[in-house]
Amino acid sequence: MTLDVAQLCAQLIRFDTTNHGGGESAGEREAAEHVAAVLHDSGVPATLLEPAPRRTNVLARVPGTDPSLPAVLVQAHLDVVPADPAEWSFDPFAGEIRDGFVHGRGAVDMKDMAAMTLAVLHRWHAEGRRPRRDVVLAFVADEEDQGHHGAHWLVEHHAAHFAGVGAAISESGGFSFDVDGVRLYPIGTAERGTSHLKLTATGRAGHGSRRNPRNAVTALVTTLARIAAHEHPVRLTPTAEAFLEGAGKALGVEVDLDDVDGTIARLGPAARLVENTVRCSTTPTVLQAGYKVNVIPGTATAQLDVRTLPGTVDELVATIDSLLGDGVTREFLEHQPPVEAPIDTPWFTAMADALRAEDPSAAVVPHCLGGGTDAKAFSRLGIHCYGFAPLLLPTGFDYRAMAHGVDERVPVAGLEFGVRVLDRFLSS
Ligand SMILES: [Zn+2]
Repeated sequence: MTLDVAQLCAQLIRFDTTNHGGGESAGEREAAEHVAAVLHDSGVPATLLEPAPRRTNVLARVPGTDPSLPAVLVQAHLDVVPADPAEWSFDPFAGEIRDGFVHGRGAVDMKDMAAMTLAVLHRWHAEGRRPRRDVVLAFVADEEDQGHHGAHWLVEHHAAHFAGVGAAISESGGFSFDVDGVRLYPIGTAERGTSHLKLTATGRAGHGSRRNPRNAVTALVTTLARIAAHEHPVRLTPTAEAFLEGAGKALGVEVDLDDVDGTIARLGPAARLVENTVRCSTTPTVLQAGYKVNVIPGTATAQLDVRTLPGTVDELVATIDSLLGDGVTREFLEHQPPVEAPIDTPWFTAMADALRAEDPSAAVVPHCLGGGTDAKAFSRLGIHCYGFAPLLLPTGFDYRAMAHGVDERVPVAGLEFGVRVLDRFLSS
C-alpha cells in the first residue's frame, strides 16, 4: 500500500506549527513526531532533536546502494507563518481535502514538500527499492524565523549528520509557471543575501519651538530619502543571466543582456520570476523617533530590509555608507550572505531530466530567490543548495500568492506529479 500524498499533507497541516517569530512559536513537536512515525513505517529510523522545548527537528538517512556517490539532502521546514482565520474562507488548520485541493496553512510552504518526500520513501519501502546514493533527511524547526532552533542550529551542532552530502533540495523551485501555454519550471540556484540594517541618527535634544541644526529626525529622514532615491545598478548573476536566456528562448522573446530592464519588460508574466533579483534592494520598513510634538528627540532610528545579490555585498555596504548623513550610523540586525549553486552540474541536469520525464514540454530555467530560506544555513557546510519542490500547477493558479498568503492550498494532482518527479530525482 502506498501512502496518499494528499492525506499526508493534510495531516501535517492539522498540526498547528505557527511560528510567530521572535522565539514565539506553537512548536513543531507533534508534527515532528508524526513525521518520525511515518518514517518508521517506511523502515527509516529517525532521530528527534530539540534545541529548545517543543522546537523539534527530525533527522534520518536512507542508505544508498552505492556508498561511493555523494549523498543528497532533502530539507523541509515544519513550521508555518501565522494565519488569521478571520481573513480565510476556511479553517487554516483543518487540513480539508476537497475540490481537488488540499487546503490550509503550509499547503505550499512547505508541508507539501515534506509530504511528497514521505510519500516517496513509503513507496520505496512498499516496493522494496533503495536509492543509489544516500538520501539524508532533515525536517526542521524555525525556518520562518531565524532558524536558531532549526537549520542553523543543526549546522552548528550536528554537522556530522550531513557528512558526504553534495547537494540539497528544498522549497522555492521546481513548480510550473504557465505563460501563455508555455510551462516554465524555475529551479532555485541562488538566493539573495539578507543584510537587514538599523540606522541610528543622533542629534541634540531640545524644545521643538527652537532652531536646531542637529535634529535627529531631520538627519534620519534626509538619509532615508537619499537611500530611497538611489537606483541600485543591475548586477547580472550567472543565475539571472541563465534565466533570461532560458526564459527568452522558451517564450520566443528577444534577450539583450545590455538592456536587462527592457528584456524583463518583454517577458510578460514571467518578469515576476526575475525582476526582483537583478539588483540589490534597500527598503525602509520601520521608523522610530520622538514622543511629544514639542520635543526634539535626541535619537531617531530606522530599519531597512536589505537584500544583496551574490558578489555584491561589499559594494552595497560601501554604497549605503556613502549615503549616510552626518550623525547617522548603521549596524546590521542580520547579515547572511547570498548563496549561489552552480547550474552546470549533474544535480541540476538530474532535476531538469526528472521534470521533463513527467512533463515533456517543461522549460526548465535557473532561478534566484529574492528572499531567503534555510539554504543559507546548509550552504555553510559547502553543500550546493537547490530550490526544488516539484509541483504541477493549473493555469491561473497563483502559487506565489499562496505562500504566507490567505486561503493557501495546493492541487492534489500537483502533489502526485511532485511525488513522481521527486522519486525519479532521488532514485537517480
Ligand atoms: Zn518556506
